[in-house]
Amino acid sequence: MEKYYQKELETMPREELKKLQSEKLVKQVRHAWDNCPDYRKKMEEAGLTPDDIKGIEDLHKLPFTSKDDLRDNYPFAMLAKPLADCVRIHSTSGTTGKRVIAYYTADDIRMWDECCARSLAAAGATREDMVQVSYGYGLFTGGAGFHGGSHLLGSTTIPMSSGNTDRQLQFMVDLGTTVLCCTPSYAAYLGETIKEKGIKNDIKLKAGIFGAEAWSEEMRRDIQEALGIKAYDIYGLTELSGPGVAYECSAQSGMHVNEDHFIAEIVDPETFEPLPAGSKGELVFTSLDKEAMPIIRYRTKDICVLSDEKCSCGRTFIKMAKPMGRSDDMLIIKGVNVFPSQIETVLLNNGYQANYQIIVDRVKNTDTFDINVELTPDKFTGNLGDISKKEKELVLALKSMLGIMANVHLVPPKSIARSEGKAVRIIDNRKI
Ligand SMILES: [Zn+2]
Repeated sequence: MEKYYQKELETMPREELKKLQSEKLVKQVRHAWDNCPDYRKKMEEAGLTPDDIKGIEDLHKLPFTSKDDLRDNYPFAMLAKPLADCVRIHSTSGTTGKRVIAYYTADDIRMWDECCARSLAAAGATREDMVQVSYGYGLFTGGAGFHGGSHLLGSTTIPMSSGNTDRQLQFMVDLGTTVLCCTPSYAAYLGETIKEKGIKNDIKLKAGIFGAEAWSEEMRRDIQEALGIKAYDIYGLTELSGPGVAYECSAQSGMHVNEDHFIAEIVDPETFEPLPAGSKGELVFTSLDKEAMPIIRYRTKDICVLSDEKCSCGRTFIKMAKPMGRSDDMLIIKGVNVFPSQIETVLLNNGYQANYQIIVDRVKNTDTFDINVELTPDKFTGNLGDISKKEKELVLALKSMLGIMANVHLVPPKSIARSEGKAVRIIDNRKI
């Protein structure tokens, strides 16, 4: 039987839900106008006041918010409550200069935890379950979100954090973990290790919730097989709270958006016109209940499709498909956001030209990350020891910028394939 955490809200008739969203949107916009100079300025530029927003039918009139808006207002300008009312912060992993700081009041944390509790309940978790949270803890929202959700649901929470695979597996066996929360690539790695150690019969897992990076249906099948579980997807952004903005149910065919807290829209990435359900476009979110940091029409840059078809689980919330790509050139490698512009900055700062090629693949469910960099004629000495030393220097400089290691290969000048005179920058061989 389908399990819910807040059945009345999760299965609310659509007409009632729209009424609730309208009431909340009017309040959220007023709150942003009154307390965030940036929102007020943008609304004034668009010739709007809060009185123009009477319900969700007026949502499309509001200006968009971008990641740059949040970065430009670092660290405090997006804060809509006194700092003393905030009980926690988290932050994005952004390495392009300023990070985005997310602020939470106690009620914001409660809302976020409830979203994660809904996700856990939809995956079948109850107070009888042992939930191993193997997402990173800290500024990253993965660990904290599931930790809070598991507490609310009354499950027994194991705050493992990421890494230390031997300890992960020992606890999983000794304590009889039944629900695992981590990135899909780590779940796949745990699955392989379990196979190598021959301990599959000692594992009592029944479900896993995996997010924070893209994964394919093939990968879902592999993980389900290796761990003997049902594997569920989840979606979220630090800017909106963290994991749990949308969550998968027993149908395993898309993620229900927590529409009592967030409105999802799909817009044309070029004209920004809203598109009807079923259309492919950029996913945009508006928060309805956030106190410390209201978010109005946030452009996620994720390309996605929404479906309003009735779901077998009984939930009435709209469903989003797995994001199919990005409207910018961001790559997600090993769960970390990588922009080609960051790599260019490092190359130029180190005396190279921006002639490089990023090659990403997935081997045994783990991302590989290689960068071929053309030597400039003056650096092309033909001395192998010298090249090896230069490669190591670049690996360190890139690690410092990106936060992850890349395999750097220095190649002769003009050896990278050109398309219309420009080096072909990205070769992504992952099948996602
Ligand atoms: Zn469903």
